[in-house]
Amino acid sequence: MVKTSSHEVIMERLLKNRMLNSNSRRNIFPLSGLLYCEKCGSRMRFRVGENKKQGQHWSALCYHQFKDGSKFEQRGKVMDVDFFNALYDRIIYVDPNILREIEMHGSRYNDTKTIIEVKEQELKKQRRALDKLHESYEEDMITKQLFLERKAVRARQIQKLEDLSKVVVDEGNYPTVEQIYERIGEFRELWDLALSSEEKNRALKKLVERIVYNQEGNRVELTVCYR
Ligand SMILES: [Zn+2]
Repeated sequence: MVKTSSHEVIMERLLKNRMLNSNSRRNIFPLSGLLYCEKCGSRMRFRVGENKKQGQHWSALCYHQFKDGSKFEQRGKVMDVDFFNALYDRIIYVDPNILREIEMHGSRYNDTKTIIEVKEQELKKQRRALDKLHESYEEDMITKQLFLERKAVRARQIQKLEDLSKVVVDEGNYPTVEQIYERIGEFRELWDLALSSEEKNRALKKLVERIVYNQEGNRVELTVCYR
């Protein structure tokens, strides 16, 4: 135990150092680590460009190529003020479809939670029974064969119940509609105060898990996935 936790502390420190060091060399953009191409699923990259009309500007582009050299046609986009205004609106006015999905997930989660509470009691009972079984065998009350048979049955049931609890923990990590609105409020405050790209990036990451980019013709579509 002691070994593990000190190991973890060291790893954490190394990671932090690496992050600090790489940050000092890195160009952080508002969308760093957040923008994904819808056509191929890869992360978009940011490149600086320069022309007379726009001066120096940053574009988001998908460079992904498959092993055979083919790639999806995905046009990039200059990340100008209009782009960020559109993105901001997209983020703070949550898509009704997403809200509905989150609500449905929430009610499903409550149903599962109720079932789990019952199953948890069952799990306790199974564990107690397994203990008893071990004791009976220790006290020479049952044969080895009977012990092994019953133990296998109990162990299977316990495993099944434990797997079920894991699913519920995973589902519980989903946000609720209230949490998303609360985080949107926090995001707006942070975004309004943010001056640097790095501060904007931090504000976005508090609320957004990823933003999926797609362009068809002249139409750019951004899909926001909330944390
Ligand atoms: Zn792509």
